[in-house]
Amino acid sequence: MQTLEELYWHLLKQGADGKPLAVGGDADPKLIGCLIHPEDKPLIWRVKPCLCPPDSPRDCQTACEWDAVALGDEGVVIDDEKCVGCQACVDACKLDALKTSKEIIPVVQELREYDGPVYALVAPAISGQFGKDVTMGKLRTALKCLGFTGMLEVAVFADILTLKEALEFDKNIRDETQFQLTSCCCPMWIAMIKKLYHQLLPNVPGSVSPMIAGGRTVKRLHPTAKTVFIGPCLAKKAEKKESDLVGAIDYVLTYQELSDLFSVSNIDLASLPEDKVPHASEAGIGYAYAGGVSEAVSRMVGQLNPHRSVTIQTRRADGVPECKAMINDILAGNHGGNFFEGMGCKGGCVGGPRAIISKEEGKKQVQAYGKEALYKTPAENPYVIELLKELGFSTVEEFLENSRLYDRDMDT
Ligand code: SF4
Ligand code: SF4
Repeated sequence: MQTLEELYWHLLKQGADGKPLAVGGDADPKLIGCLIHPEDKPLIWRVKPCLCPPDSPRDCQTACEWDAVALGDEGVVIDDEKCVGCQACVDACKLDALKTSKEIIPVVQELREYDGPVYALVAPAISGQFGKDVTMGKLRTALKCLGFTGMLEVAVFADILTLKEALEFDKNIRDETQFQLTSCCCPMWIAMIKKLYHQLLPNVPGSVSPMIAGGRTVKRLHPTAKTVFIGPCLAKKAEKKESDLVGAIDYVLTYQELSDLFSVSNIDLASLPEDKVPHASEAGIGYAYAGGVSEAVSRMVGQLNPHRSVTIQTRRADGVPECKAMINDILAGNHGGNFFEGMGCKGGCVGGPRAIISKEEGKKQVQAYGKEALYKTPAENPYVIELLKELGFSTVEEFLENSRLYDRDMDT
């Protein structure tokens, strides 16, 4: 019987070659279902029976900080409602019995069969992930070769959300006792606050992440479009399914899944021509690494209101234990700042579980790309205004005041 890995490569190659998907009669229908219809399966799959002694603590259960691993008849079962997609259980299982959801095969099918537009939305951490010579322009060409209609940098939506967070800060933080927790960007940080530190929700502005903002924008402008987010993150696969966010993003791929598709499609990325459409500011691109969000919002608050009496003081944490320690400090009254950024992964998204290169190299590559940006901050970025005009608004303030497109209710 073929393993999940063997089935995955077999189906991916067939899809990439434009052939109908077919497998041998001895293939496990459960594994085929996981690969062809991941949307109705949990984020973490158990692909073989558990062999851990029933009376000892299981490594996957101990590793899960979210109480999402329960015991079923044949072994552990993941509670999809509780799972945030941190991958700690997968890494902890010594038998390699747990696997993470892959959505690349249905995406390949969409690229072949869907007759409407299919847009790729790439996370800011993408610089350098497919090789130092693979520029953003070459990546756009490569994605179009695969059948995508176009490629958008999610960093441009990070630009708009930076303005939103900075305006919220300027409006709400009026004295030394008040503080704001960043709302956008990291679903693991938000899950932590919603599930474990509910009392801090009033300090989180109700904004969607740049990924959801991008998906909603594409669908507002092109209602029949399919949206495919591509990033280093598994938690984004869980985020897209949250009840108040569902519909913005149709598929979430990791850089690893995309790299697998490039390899079976025999695309030599470095040799492709450039298709350059730079549109994010250096600040939005910086969302890819820890500290980038607070740096961007802090700069923006200074630009919006340079004479405010309460200045912005940022504090940040990356990695779940550090985020929890920072939140516990806040709850104990040891604020040490009035704007808090939390990122679930060490180093931020460049350290995401499905990044291809090291977080240090990833940050270096993102920073180099950021330096090439024509604009330093979102307020200087004409592409932001152009995009808002397409949505029917002439200024960021007008958009944020009159549109609920990037809002979310944190209590749901
Ligand atoms: S991915 Fe993370 S949250 Fe989900 S079950 Fe595994 S350890 Fe728990
Ligand atoms: S820090 Fe990690 S969990 Fe959070 S958005 Fe980035 S890759 Fe995802």
